[in-house]
Amino acid sequence: MTYDRLVCANCAAPVSEGRCPVCRANRERLQQENFFENFLAGLNPMTLIALLAVLVAAVALLAHQTA
Ligand SMILES: [Zn+2]
Repeated sequence: MTYDRLVCANCAAPVSEGRCPVCRANRERLQQENFFENFLAGLNPMTLIALLAVLVAAVALLAHQTA
C-alpha cells in the first residue's frame, strides 16, 4: 500500500507532504499500517524457526526420557 499518490480531500495536496492535520493523520495511519505489515513479514520466518527449535527440543527430550 503506497500513499505517495494519495491526494488529501481537505487541502487537495499530496498526503505525503503532510500540509494539513488531515494529511498528517492519514500519513501516520498509513505508515503504521506499513510498519505493522513489515513487522509481520519479518516476524513470520523467525517465528517458524523458533517453533521448529521448540519442536526439535521437545522430541529430543521425549526420546531421552523413553530411552
Ligand atoms: Zn490535507
